[in-house]
Amino acid sequence: MGKKVGVYVCTGCGIGDCLDTRKLVELAETECRAPVVRSSSAFCLEDARLIRDDVEQQRVDSVVIAGCSSRVNAEVFFFKPAFVERVNIRERVTWGQPANDPETQSLAEDYLRMGIVRAQKAAPPVPYQEATERRVLVVGGGMAGMAAVIAAAKAGFEVVLVERSPRLGGFAARLHRQFPKHPPYRDLEAPAVAATIRELEQLPGVTVFTSSEIEQIEGQPGRFSVLVRREEGSAELRAGAIVLAAGWMPVEADVLAGYGLGRYPNVVTSVALEEMAAQGRIVRPSDGREVQSVGLILCDGPEDAAHLPYGGSVSSLVALKQAMYLREQAPSATVYLLYEDMQAPGLYEYFYRRVQEDPGVLLSRGVVRSMGEDSDGGILLEAEGTPIGGAVRLKVDLLVLSTGMRPATLGPNGPGILNLRYLQGGELPTSAFGYPDSHYICFPYETQRTGIYSAGAVRKPMDLAASAQDGAAAALKAIQCIEKSSAGAAVHPRVGDLSYPTFFLQKCTSCGRCTQECPFGALELDEKKRPVLNTNRCRRCGICMGACPVQIISFNDYSIDMLSGMIKAVGIPDEFEEKPRILALACENDACPALDMAGLRRLQYSAAVRVIPVRCLGSVNSILIADAVSRGFDGVALMGCRPGDDYQCHFIRGSELLRRRMDNVRETLDQLALESERVQVMEVTISEWEQIPQKLAELDEIVARVGPNPMKGF
Ligand SMILES: Cc1cc2nc3c(=O)[nH]c(=O)nc-3n(C[C@H](O)[C@H](O)[C@H](O)COP(=O)(O)OP(=O)(O)OC[C@H]3O[C@@H](n4cnc5c(N)ncnc54)[C@H](O)[C@@H]3O)c2cc1C
Ligand code: SF4
Ligand code: SF4
Repeated sequence: MGKKVGVYVCTGCGIGDCLDTRKLVELAETECRAPVVRSSSAFCLEDARLIRDDVEQQRVDSVVIAGCSSRVNAEVFFFKPAFVERVNIRERVTWGQPANDPETQSLAEDYLRMGIVRAQKAAPPVPYQEATERRVLVVGGGMAGMAAVIAAAKAGFEVVLVERSPRLGGFAARLHRQFPKHPPYRDLEAPAVAATIRELEQLPGVTVFTSSEIEQIEGQPGRFSVLVRREEGSAELRAGAIVLAAGWMPVEADVLAGYGLGRYPNVVTSVALEEMAAQGRIVRPSDGREVQSVGLILCDGPEDAAHLPYGGSVSSLVALKQAMYLREQAPSATVYLLYEDMQAPGLYEYFYRRVQEDPGVLLSRGVVRSMGEDSDGGILLEAEGTPIGGAVRLKVDLLVLSTGMRPATLGPNGPGILNLRYLQGGELPTSAFGYPDSHYICFPYETQRTGIYSAGAVRKPMDLAASAQDGAAAALKAIQCIEKSSAGAAVHPRVGDLSYPTFFLQKCTSCGRCTQECPFGALELDEKKRPVLNTNRCRRCGICMGACPVQIISFNDYSIDMLSGMIKAVGIPDEFEEKPRILALACENDACPALDMAGLRRLQYSAAVRVIPVRCLGSVNSILIADAVSRGFDGVALMGCRPGDDYQCHFIRGSELLRRRMDNVRETLDQLALESERVQVMEVTISEWEQIPQKLAELDEIVARVGPNPMKGF
């Protein structure tokens, strides 16, 4: 049975003053043959009822609303069970183009045609739903892991905690004292970890496995099957989501070799000093003598081999704390604390001042230029760059080197923490510094494996307060994941999206591209090496759709057929009219909102541009670009996020993959004897809306230079 499309043309918000909306109504009725067409200045107010009545009484199953951006009024324009297509003639047309101009009118008409085509081809997504486990698995029982357990258990979820060592607490359990967390933020505090362990042990629904590790994890969010390796033998369990809180490991000793570590016995790390303090006495390792003078050094800045670009404030605070240990133990001792950067954020400023007030602690900027050992085992230091100028020479009984914190994912145990049975590999993919991020700006805690969230020092160097907060936050993400998976909806970034890709496997050539290019490891292979989707792992980005050379991957509401139908719906003026047409395939995450912002600020850009939103530039199949050019578009703008390790792409590699596919596009255009410069990739982040007119004008100029597309009219 054909679809019943209802078209609703809004005349409010200045639309009616700028466009001939009667012509839009006429176009919907006659050219597009929509059975129901209405116009109103108040569809977002009381006239929303008219649309609802059409859906309920007239059985309209596809609603096309030409009005404001889909980013506003989403709750108003929701007419279950109909499919809703929002045609943006407000921000993209009326607010950015001259009123009552023929080009403005034809822009609105093209958008309406495109929206109607999409509505005719799309169907409302049907959620994928299977029974889900309401249990959270937490790996690592340090402060972050324990906080995750407590938060999840208090929210009524069952929790299983797997800790590798025989006891809970992580590094917090090895501390002598901790830096202050309470007013007046001046005094060291007793470690709070024991109280956290007690709280956890009293909560119902919590199972703790110590001296245990993960042997294997398979499945997907909502339904992970987990094997735990224990001294007593393996244990099997099911979990809906996972929090990874495996913590940190000290930077390798050889990184600190330049400071004499391993060469001079009286050079130790801050971790070793913490151990000595916890055992009750800080002494020189060479002869067990109590120390009277101590040098504490933070790394010497970016030039230093020991410098970690992501170090943060923990090492500064640890050094301040350890200066206090030394002064408390020996009130006559002198401590020299040398640093390139001292970071005591927020209320820790009070703690910094407290240490600064101590006459026995000399805090100074300074870079160690040379060092050695004297005959009685003392350490000789020469520092430069201090505020007093010139070289400063020091002799200390003990030199303490600040220990950089690397994520446990890089540790000797790293390649065996989760042991995922995933085609793309057993561990979480990591970013440049070994951290398992997915999108560190927009989605902290997310990793590149859906349903697995990282927290605490495995995510970035942080102190105990931040780790506890992190663990609780990651637990909430895990809970959100369980809830969304049970509703068959995506967790992020397309929160609530019910669509997912389907594969017309009869035509699959088993090339494996989709399984390799999926950034989230959502696809496995069947016995014929064809893709099998783990729906709850899928983030609905459409990158597999962009990758498939035989175009057999589609979503109910997003497909190559739909996009190419929209491209074909655009009226292309012939070359004598001198009205170029540019297609912009714009990423929904950043470029589309930036285009809306441009409209909102009434910035005018080329009326030749026809925008089609895409889930991610990675979902753009090169066939679409070839389609657009062979249809007669004079230029194509591919508007998406910045690629790279400091990525902006919400789907990790989408914009990078598109750039790779551009080689194919250029080849195709060359074969058609068309200038490949007609197709331009444009980086547009959400905050760069001001640059949009300029960027599009540059493409206009290219088009003007190379002339109209010779394929027009074919
Ligand atoms: C010298 C020093 C002193 C410090 N002093 C302070 C201080 O005074 N105050 C403060 O706020 N912060 C301090 N910190 C920082 C503090 O140690 C961290 O904030 C804290 O350890 C982070 O907690 P976490 O739970 O993320 O990691 P961790 O404490 O490292 O805990 C991780 C847990 O995961 C477990 N684990 C690892 N791998 C696996 C696996 N494969 N399977 C199962 N379990 C696994 C580990 O055994 C461990 O129990 C200090 C840091 C240093 C280096
Ligand atoms: S839509 Fe994205 S996450 Fe889902 S299978 Fe395809 S590439 Fe993977
Ligand atoms: S990319 Fe397409 S043809 Fe290749 S394996 Fe995947 S579905 Fe099959």
